[in-house]
Amino acid sequence: MSTKSIITVKELVKSYGDFTAVNGISFDVKEGEIFGLLGPNGAGKSTTLEIIETLREKTSGEVIVDGFNIEQDQAAIKKIIGVQLQSSGFYPNLNLIELIHLFIGLYQSSVDPMDLLRKVNLEDKANAKYKQLSGGQKQRFSIATTLINKPKIIFLDEPTTGLDPQARRNLWDLIKEIRDNGTTVIITTHYMDEAEILCDRVAIIDSGKIISINTPNTLIDELVATGFEKAKEVKKANLEDVFIHLTGKAWRED
Ligand code: ADP
Ligand code: MG
Repeated sequence: MSTKSIITVKELVKSYGDFTAVNGISFDVKEGEIFGLLGPNGAGKSTTLEIIETLREKTSGEVIVDGFNIEQDQAAIKKIIGVQLQSSGFYPNLNLIELIHLFIGLYQSSVDPMDLLRKVNLEDKANAKYKQLSGGQKQRFSIATTLINKPKIIFLDEPTTGLDPQARRNLWDLIKEIRDNGTTVIITTHYMDEAEILCDRVAIIDSGKIISINTPNTLIDELVATGFEKAKEVKKANLEDVFIHLTGKAWRED
């Protein structure tokens, strides 16, 4: 991870009428990191992402993405980011190769569709229709589509919600690989185990405000330093460990 900021958010506010969904938040995302936005439902995570993605208008504040301002340089920003679509954004009756060609046309990209499918381990589904994919496969495919324009930054809003343990782990590996290849990743999740394993830094957001921001380890150390102790002695394994031990880590028809 470099120390250069690729995204800078200053005093960002988003109001819907009388209601303030994002209430003056400031943070930086460093080039090459996986940055997690964590927080309960309604905290303002998706709103914040959509403003940075130039898909939603801010009320006030400043957002700079790779040197471009979201007010003046929307087209430039769109070229260097990849945004994961909700599954409803895909034509259900086209096969994966056809869908990728559709995006390649939109972005005038030179990416090879089979290369892309190989990256997300969907080579053997190239001729399958989107609607025939399992939940995990759909998520991997939608992550593949964020890479079509070879973006500097990708945005993943709850990419692992609803997936089984194997599919979730497969997605973690994929997201780390994308980061290791130089792409900055911003992700939201409700799973704290996932954030702890995956994210280089996290911001915890509640009621539109950032209440903490740091590396997962530093946040944990800070809590422990206050004298915090778990109520029960921690077991050496949990039920998820049992599940993975019994059913294996292998790729599934997830
Ligand atoms: P999160 O992604 O953290 O769950 P959101 O950013 O989706 O939260 O929403 C933050 C708050 O803003 C929620 O209370 C939500 O109901 C509200 N909100 C989101 N979009 C709109 C909208 N278009 N109009 C009015 N309120 C909205
Ligand atoms: Mg959301």
